[in-house]
Amino acid sequence: MLRLSLTARCNLACPYCLPDGREPADLLSLSQRLQVVSAAVELGVSSLRLTGGEPLLHPELEALVEAAQPLRQHGLREIALTSNGTLLTAARAEALREAGLDRITLSLDGADGPSVARMAGLPDAAAGERALAAVLAAIDHARNAGFEPATGQLKLNAVIQRGINDGQLLPLARLAREQGLELRLIEYMDVGNRNGWRPDAVVPAAEMVHRISSHWPLEPLGRDAGGTASRWRYGDGAGAVALVASVSEPFCGDCNRLRVTADGIAYTCLFANPERGLDLKPWLQPGTPPRELEAALRQLWQARTDRYSEERTALPGTHAAPHAEMAYLGG
Ligand code: SAM
Repeated sequence: MLRLSLTARCNLACPYCLPDGREPADLLSLSQRLQVVSAAVELGVSSLRLTGGEPLLHPELEALVEAAQPLRQHGLREIALTSNGTLLTAARAEALREAGLDRITLSLDGADGPSVARMAGLPDAAAGERALAAVLAAIDHARNAGFEPATGQLKLNAVIQRGINDGQLLPLARLAREQGLELRLIEYMDVGNRNGWRPDAVVPAAEMVHRISSHWPLEPLGRDAGGTASRWRYGDGAGAVALVASVSEPFCGDCNRLRVTADGIAYTCLFANPERGLDLKPWLQPGTPPRELEAALRQLWQARTDRYSEERTALPGTHAAPHAEMAYLGG
């Protein structure tokens, strides 16, 4: 899978993510982004996820989705978007669908104004209420534009932090059940160095499953190879919930994610040292044959040894090592 970040900027300032607020210099152009996607597809990538920062801030998002459509003939099977949803109007949801977007995951970390405000770095509960209302409207817009939750085309992401929003577990599960959406609960991760991550702020996936299951019994569905989430089905038939346990149950061994930032730096791990990225721009200059970019990416991929999430468990304290920031990497 290729996760391509379109911008490092975000319209929210979630304290657990802490976006920069400013863009890196030398952003890739649309045609350079297309070159990256095309090279990745030639190397066997079948899934593209567009992310950020907040990708809806990027004016060329729809154009990129449209321009990537011919790559379906070369093995690209799906194009997905991860967004906080607050900027997803009905018109943009329709435009994205028409451009050929297959799936949307919306991020929402609370089901009431005060919780949303706390998690999204908003000034007060009223601002949290407005953001929540915007995301609920975005769910409707996406559904109306044809993103069908029942077939996994529309999902909800939530990060859970102990003592901050873990009281939102059941309200978020209820909201997702009512909306017919699969909720993906993400363990709070030590991405970047700015969020003051501490191991005791992580709510392990097993605890989240236990807490939800004591209210609405869950049955395990397992984890797909190369997937990040283990899935559970509600016993009463009200859909499924998924857990991304990259802290408590790392899955480095079958991680298949390549990340490329808005300024064209490729990383093979979400927890990478910022100095360790490969700048793809030298291969994105006019006249450079596409096979040279493919060769550079192949070499990067074959040389990768990252298994930070497993090392974190084995060597407590390693989380203090330098990590690239989440909003820059694109999650
Ligand atoms: N702005 C978009 C959004 O909100 O989905 C896309 C980028 S955001 C970095 C992608 C995902 O990463 C979001 O679901 C966000 O909650 C999650 N995320 C950010 N920082 C995280 C952290 N420290 N631990 C776990 N998940 C995190």
